[in-house]
Amino acid sequence: MSLKAGRHTLSIPGPSVMPERVLRAMHQGAPNIYEGALMETTAKVFSQLKTVARTDGDVAMYIANGHGAWEASLWNTLAPGETALVLATGRFGKGWAEMARRLGIQVELMDFGTAAPADPARVAERLRADKAHKIKAIMTVQTDTASSVRNDVAALGRVIGETGHPALFMVDCIASLACERFEMDAWGVDVMVAGCQKGLMVPPGTSFVFANDRAQKAQARLERVSPYFDWAPRMNPQMFYQRFGGTAPTHHLFGLDVALDMILEEEGLENVWRRHETLAGCVWAAVDAWSATSEIHPNINDLAHRSCAVTTIHTRPGDAPLLRRWCEEEANLTLGIGLGLDDASGLPPGESLFRIGHMGHLSPPMILGTLATVDAGLKSLGIAHGHGAMEAATAALTVIGTAAKAAE
Ligand SMILES: *Cc1c(COP(=O)(O)O)cnc(C)c1O
Repeated sequence: MSLKAGRHTLSIPGPSVMPERVLRAMHQGAPNIYEGALMETTAKVFSQLKTVARTDGDVAMYIANGHGAWEASLWNTLAPGETALVLATGRFGKGWAEMARRLGIQVELMDFGTAAPADPARVAERLRADKAHKIKAIMTVQTDTASSVRNDVAALGRVIGETGHPALFMVDCIASLACERFEMDAWGVDVMVAGCQKGLMVPPGTSFVFANDRAQKAQARLERVSPYFDWAPRMNPQMFYQRFGGTAPTHHLFGLDVALDMILEEEGLENVWRRHETLAGCVWAAVDAWSATSEIHPNINDLAHRSCAVTTIHTRPGDAPLLRRWCEEEANLTLGIGLGLDDASGLPPGESLFRIGHMGHLSPPMILGTLATVDAGLKSLGIAHGHGAMEAATAALTVIGTAAKAAE
């Protein structure tokens, strides 16, 4: 008997669940792209994007997914032959590094494995040793979506500042923007990349590169910048179309307009972060309960280094695909597949890993529904697991309202 009915539940780390209001805002005819309301919507969206990133810098928008923003960020910051220090904590940092390599950039990879964050002390040591300032940029990911580690961007920014090294600090926040605290200016981040389909709750199709003054000035030394990816006309356009290097992503702007209002005007960014942290706490509590007496375990042990947007979970080889299939076919729930970690078993990563996405437009019943369904799947399939996961998950929700009560 399958219970595949009702509303489909998508618990993957992007694209995330989209609010009906965002989708409705996108459901309209094409607007005038030369004058009128679209100009105002665009100005508002750009301003709100900077507010979400906590920066007084500028932002360039690309009609592209996150990979497009990766490439755009590299074209504007590094010339072929120059060196970038990449702090890798999983597949996404390495993906950005690989793209840099293919653009002729010398990549120095500092690999922190797939179960721990980048170590600020090691980064500081490396920068102090680079007396000639050969390193032109330091690249890292706030949340690596494969390993679900959360890097301490504030601490990295602090040590980079303390060394006095002039390299640009570049951070990928594609999986974390509007999911967890990120303070571009206060944390000393010069360049940040993000996409619209994760914390920003809009269908995939636009991505962003934020840059402060220092990064924009550093761009001037580059002999060649891709005319399409050049951020300068997009940040400071003479003509409206230059913002987008062509036709505006009209419907994405409509969607972003509503999504950014929901985040900034209605819920408030700090609350959005708090909600993600609280709902992530439910996931962590459930996973920790499952792991107590079984081979199920979270990829990141230390709570302080777990992402608030996605959780990567290990199972016995073979259990993860069974569980994902059961959830999909019996219960209308899609879980995230495992992406490559350094796994000694030699099996494909999906065999012993799955991920729960908990980013974006998410409420307690949505995340509890996902966790309870996974719990039911483990029981139905006879997969060994510790008990009490749902009790633990709901207990993690009792913090709701306490901040408000304390403030009264
Ligand atoms: C999703 C993601 C990407 C890639 O974005 P696409 O839109 O799939 O190209 C890059 N980095 C991180 C951290 C991500 O989560």
